[in-house]
Amino acid sequence: MSILIKDVELDGDVTSVYIEGNRIAEIGKKRKAETVIDGKGKIALPGFVNLHTHSAMTLFRGLGDDLDLSTWLETRIWPAEAKLTPTDVYWGTKLACLEMIKTGTTTFNDMYFHMDQAAKAVKEMGLRAFLAEGIVDLNDPERAVKQLRTAEDVNRRIAAMKVDRITPALGPHAIYTVSKDSLLRLREIADKDGSLIHMHLAETKREVDDCVTETGMRPASYLDSLGFLAKDVIAAHGCWLDSSEIEVLAHTGAKVAHCPISNMKLATGQAMPYAALKEAAVVMGLGTDGAASNNNLDMFETMKVACLVQKFASNDPRVLPALEAYQLANLGGARALGIDAGIVGVERLADIILVDPRRPELTPRLDDVSNWVYAAHGNIVDTVICDGVVLMRGRRVKGEAEILEKAADAAKALATRG
Ligand SMILES: [Zn+2]
Repeated sequence: MSILIKDVELDGDVTSVYIEGNRIAEIGKKRKAETVIDGKGKIALPGFVNLHTHSAMTLFRGLGDDLDLSTWLETRIWPAEAKLTPTDVYWGTKLACLEMIKTGTTTFNDMYFHMDQAAKAVKEMGLRAFLAEGIVDLNDPERAVKQLRTAEDVNRRIAAMKVDRITPALGPHAIYTVSKDSLLRLREIADKDGSLIHMHLAETKREVDDCVTETGMRPASYLDSLGFLAKDVIAAHGCWLDSSEIEVLAHTGAKVAHCPISNMKLATGQAMPYAALKEAAVVMGLGTDGAASNNNLDMFETMKVACLVQKFASNDPRVLPALEAYQLANLGGARALGIDAGIVGVERLADIILVDPRRPELTPRLDDVSNWVYAAHGNIVDTVICDGVVLMRGRRVKGEAEILEKAADAAKALATRG
């Protein structure tokens, strides 16, 4: 398979991007290709990397807005999740993939349930994904054995699909839902098979207070005391990390996914300490979190809100400038996941989006990056290529109408299921 994007603007120049297989083979020369995309008037950017989400939660969009985290989880989300079927996860993930494609995301880091069904959806939709079966053992040893077995089975099934762009990962939900023994076991598995570990960390003050009461340590220090933290850990949120924990993350090489919209919507009370994490050279990316706490998966919006919350929380408009937010949203996420994406460059993965700047909110073009971060929404994306395959052209995605209908039906059935 080869694709030529001709006459497209890349880093300020009009050029051609030639893709062979799933990599960018050449930039600057027009070559014969099986598929030719006319890039005239459009700009090529790297696809976004959504570093923390729960895709199938698209089915819960609008369910229980405006509640505090524990009420929301206990009265709305957990009861609904208890009724969730594998088919629901399949359609919820299809819907999430459709939304991500339409807003320029090409890679996502997901944690949820029935992830073999999510993998089936991702395989069909063409995105790149890291899929972790969520582990919640609630300190119950019997439940822990079952959950770990399920996660290993699911990961084996995903690996057996042999789709290079879909990678199974490990998903201990958080320190307050997963026992020490399970965390230790997951560390062993990750060491053995090289999986990434995706978890929530230091999201709320209550998590920190409970951890200090139970262990005498703050969450990141507790994980470090177990030997759990390493460069394969992606920790979502990190709102309540203190300076000693930031040091721990820096020296273990753990990564952090900033999810500003979810944090503000659920009022976690404190913004992720971006400036201190940056100072400590911790690798960071941006995540939307699930659609139930966002309520969309638009990385353009997430870039803007990340900038705003950091400035507002630190009372300093110089914190998290547009260029840094833009880099977190593509290269930062790619580095966190260890993939060769996040930049449109030769030999990089062919994960490219074309945006159309001929719109009122993007005029004038005094500063493109400023426009992407502060003025744009995901609807400026015209074309999406992931892993060398065209997923959207002229904002049209194959099967869109069916996905909208089936996902809406699944959400409705879930709401009425006893
Ligand atoms: Zn989350």
